[in-house]
Amino acid sequence: MLTDCIFCKIIASVIPSDKVYEDEFVLAFRDIAPAAPVHILVVPKTHVASAADVTPENSDLVAACFRAIAQIAREQGMEGFRVISNSGAEGGQTVFHLHFHLLGGKQLPANLL
Ligand code: 5GP
Ligand code: ZN
Repeated sequence: MLTDCIFCKIIASVIPSDKVYEDEFVLAFRDIAPAAPVHILVVPKTHVASAADVTPENSDLVAACFRAIAQIAREQGMEGFRVISNSGAEGGQTVFHLHFHLLGGKQLPANLL
């Protein structure tokens, strides 16, 4: 755990969160500032800073996140959804622990920007 990382603290339950899914490798919890009716953050329990830091050694964590995303989407009854991972400050990342935004619960706009 990185002691100055918000998501590491949420994983360690030092900071509370509204959890929706957990397994050995992944935690998912509701975003504190939802941008859609369903807005869940899916994060690997191991600290990886961003999508730019995915390597052959840690990419199993990404697969685990996407397995969780498929299961959560089914459980939440989402007919369609969008997955976003902001990477780096220019990419809009504000928490530097790899995470996937799972967004849905309404008709999403075609344009991202
Ligand atoms: P980013 O901007 O890095 O792609 O996404 C970070 C997300 O984390 C934002 O959508 C923000 O609302 C969310 N967030 C930041 N701090 C917390 C927190 O303490 N708890 C929860 N549940 N979400 C948070
Ligand atoms: Zn972290």
